[in-house]
Amino acid sequence: MSEVKKVIIIGAGPSGSVAAALLQKKGYQAIVLERDNFPRFSIGESLLPQCMEFIEQAGLSKVVDQAGFQLKTGASFLHNQQFSSFCFSDKFSDGFDATFQVQRANFDLLLATEAQAKGATIHWQHEVIEADFSGARPKLSVKDEEGQSYQIEADFVLDASGFGRVLPRLLKLDIPSDFPVRQSLFTHLEDKIDCTKYDRNKIWIVVHPEIRDVWYWLIPFSNGRCSLGVVATPENLKELGDNHQQIFQKLIDQEPNLKALLKNAVFDTPINSLKGYSTNVKSLYGQGYALLGNAGEFLDPVFSSGVTIAMKSACLAVEQLDKQFKNESVSWQTGFAEPLQKGVDTFRAFVNAWYDGSLQDIIFYDKQQPNIKTMICSILAGYVWDEKNPYVKNSRARLKTLAELCCDD
Ligand SMILES: Cc1cc2nc3c(=O)[nH]c(=O)nc-3n(C[C@H](O)[C@H](O)[C@H](O)COP(=O)(O)OP(=O)(O)OC[C@H]3O[C@@H](n4cnc5c(N)ncnc54)[C@H](O)[C@@H]3O)c2cc1C
Repeated sequence: MSEVKKVIIIGAGPSGSVAAALLQKKGYQAIVLERDNFPRFSIGESLLPQCMEFIEQAGLSKVVDQAGFQLKTGASFLHNQQFSSFCFSDKFSDGFDATFQVQRANFDLLLATEAQAKGATIHWQHEVIEADFSGARPKLSVKDEEGQSYQIEADFVLDASGFGRVLPRLLKLDIPSDFPVRQSLFTHLEDKIDCTKYDRNKIWIVVHPEIRDVWYWLIPFSNGRCSLGVVATPENLKELGDNHQQIFQKLIDQEPNLKALLKNAVFDTPINSLKGYSTNVKSLYGQGYALLGNAGEFLDPVFSSGVTIAMKSACLAVEQLDKQFKNESVSWQTGFAEPLQKGVDTFRAFVNAWYDGSLQDIIFYDKQQPNIKTMICSILAGYVWDEKNPYVKNSRARLKTLAELCCDD
């Protein structure tokens, strides 16, 4: 009998755990090397309905559904007096109508623990420091929790290291993202929202009253707390001072909708900052490895696409690996990189249109045709691989035409 194929996964975030669970399901041995000890904080808290499909494929739905996370049924956009709300149940594509808003510390631990329950091995506080793909089998050098180094070999390596970007760094795969550098300041707080019209089942995306490419997110959790963040250029932020706490407070004070909603909020957690997070690589795969989630490409937080893309990449990669291990014909280009890229490119068109203002014109247009709204809603729900949707197939041109129609009116 042939030996069970062994796959090393670098990182136990959503892409790593979904890949591990899927590999175990198919009878392979998943060994996850995770640098941190969970639970640990991570940004990326608002999920999209599309990712529920990937969670289901990995056999992780039950624990996620039962965890008590905040339900998410849509997204609301605000700009001064303009308000536009999308309900995922009104989307064009078939599939899940709802998802969750999650504290990632809990969510990531839950997925990882469930992957372990399915037989995956996770080595906590084991940091991958070197990689060698020159031999017949990939070999990684790892530093364990005691600071001791060891080497480990496998049949394949999936890099799910997120912003750790282990293989892009070690193999010099990084290329600059075509998005300008943006910075985000964010925190968790006790929101004490008492406005009866406020719907906790929706993420709020709020545009700054004067600077259209500065925007805020408000992501409520199920425990009376929320995630609050702002995205701007570093130059925008610099104009407001050097102290993150003060800059953050000034930006909240500048936005009347948020200021009113959070009038009783208790800001009890330091402000976090991330800058220049958009990334890209020369190739998403190579001899003996593939890059998942943020270890490959990361666009922008505005449409909460990160976890969905991360999980999709895990599903596609495991499909290819399964074929490869069965000695079936495999193309990592047409079976992994290209299909993944299709969805990423749809999001890319939407992100570009958001920052050039055209998508904001569309979203806040008050005479939107209902059928077009369902198609836009599908993208906001993460259904960016549904080629039946004209806004998937031809996103850039469609958005341009639609924005012109909205402005001409
Ligand atoms: C400001 C901001 C807001 C965002 N908001 C959202 C949102 O609302 N919704 C959404 O879906 N996405 C959001 N994202 C994106 C989201 O955070 C990521 O896309 C998502 O976490 C990617 O998952 P992953 O599995 O690829 O990596 P991660 O979740 O980053 O997991 C990677 C894991 O690898 C481990 N690791 C790193 N280096 C090593 C190493 N050398 N050895 C071993 N392990 C290692 C890390 O410790 C980590 O646990 C946001 C991103 C930003 C920057």
